[in-house]
Amino acid sequence: MITSAVAVPALLIAQAVPELDGADRDADVSLPPDLADPSPPRASGQPDGEVAAGRHRGPAPARRTPPVPRVPEQGPGTFQVAAAPAVSTEGATTYRVEVEDGLPFPASQVAQFVEETLTDQRGWATRHRVVRVDGHADLRIVLATPETVDELCTPLDTGGRLSCRNGDNVVINAWRWQFGAESYTGDLTGYRRYVVNHETGHALGYAHVGCRKPGELAPVMLQQTKGLEGCEQNPWPARADLVDH
Ligand SMILES: [Zn+2]
Repeated sequence: MITSAVAVPALLIAQAVPELDGADRDADVSLPPDLADPSPPRASGQPDGEVAAGRHRGPAPARRTPPVPRVPEQGPGTFQVAAAPAVSTEGATTYRVEVEDGLPFPASQVAQFVEETLTDQRGWATRHRVVRVDGHADLRIVLATPETVDELCTPLDTGGRLSCRNGDNVVINAWRWQFGAESYTGDLTGYRRYVVNHETGHALGYAHVGCRKPGELAPVMLQQTKGLEGCEQNPWPARADLVDH
């Protein structure tokens, strides 16, 4: 018998088997959309009215593209803990946000994104009070390089491309943070919202579910990195997972 994960008491921190998330390694390693050139091709030739001599007739100057942050495959295994304001944590599930040294994502910015996600009224905040701290916490939400993710997720095999929840660690793969997944093509922010909500959802006691009906919004606890099973992408649990519960 399969029991519904959402029946788990709200503030219980799940200690069950770790969860591994992500696609088959080969399924979505194509060039991510945020690296694709969004600009239309330039017309060649000189601007109208250009009458000058040959020194103006060289190739157009190289177009500057925004630098793409480099995500190393491995890091030192040390982390920056994002500072957090002192707030009441009574009755709350606490978490702290950590970013591995060497990643091009400042801990303060990652923490802001995670906090926005977990306090959004489209999210778990409708059912759970989760509070960010920078000291002892119930959960660590860690953004790490692929090899460090592998270590933190052991005994799971992440293949360097997956994220997981393992015990009190919510481990997000920086490769996914940068590249997203095919199911969220063109919406990296949406993918990041999804992966934070999905992995934190495990820590709050929720297990995987499938797409209930093709065309409907995907539950956050569907492994959307793998695909959508005919559902529509959706990073917000209050829109699907928590409906009718
Ligand atoms: Zn999962």
